[in-house]
Amino acid sequence: MAVPKRRTSKAHRDSRRAPNMKKVAPGISICPQCHQPKLPHRVCPNCNYYDGKNVLKNEAEA
Ligand SMILES: [Zn+2]
Repeated sequence: MAVPKRRTSKAHRDSRRAPNMKKVAPGISICPQCHQPKLPHRVCPNCNYYDGKNVLKNEAEA
């Protein structure tokens, strides 16, 4: 069975792996209310809406 003669350098190994690395999610979603980019599962900083409701307004009424 064939055996590699030289150890693959870190640079060569990493350059081969780099394109196949899973891309990290950008962590950006679009607000359905104002269509601005926002962090997922967080109140929109632009219009204060979450799950179709104005969260800050509901807090003020309560
Ligand atoms: Zn919004």
